[in-house]
Amino acid sequence: MTTKIEKTDAEWRAELTPEQYEILRRKGTERAFTGEYNDMKDPGVYRCAGCGAELFRSEAKFDSGTGWPSFVEPAGLESVVTETDRSWGMARTEVMCAACGGHLGHVFPDGPGPTGQRFCINSCSLDLERS
Ligand code: FE
Repeated sequence: MTTKIEKTDAEWRAELTPEQYEILRRKGTERAFTGEYNDMKDPGVYRCAGCGAELFRSEAKFDSGTGWPSFVEPAGLESVVTETDRSWGMARTEVMCAACGGHLGHVFPDGPGPTGQRFCINSCSLDLERS
């Protein structure tokens, strides 16, 4: 079971950095190749920068060349939730933290491996807990 975390906009704004708030709570996107985890290869668990929930594992990370951290799968089936995003004249699948609803990025059906998925995730929405 995923614990639901609900906070007011003012609470999120107070505890997140401006960059984290813009991405997690306002569905922003960091510029490609600028995020601290884009080239990260250290082993560990990527947690939600908003609520600490385990979202992705380093074993699932791959170099997509897109400029954003990319994963073939989430840490668990209930780690993330998805929703159709029709902004910017495209139909994309938005990925959110299942626990706090924070915006993480998008998932595309062109990934490597058996699932064929590419979770394209903002570094700003993640916190790597090195193992
Ligand atoms: Fe979260």
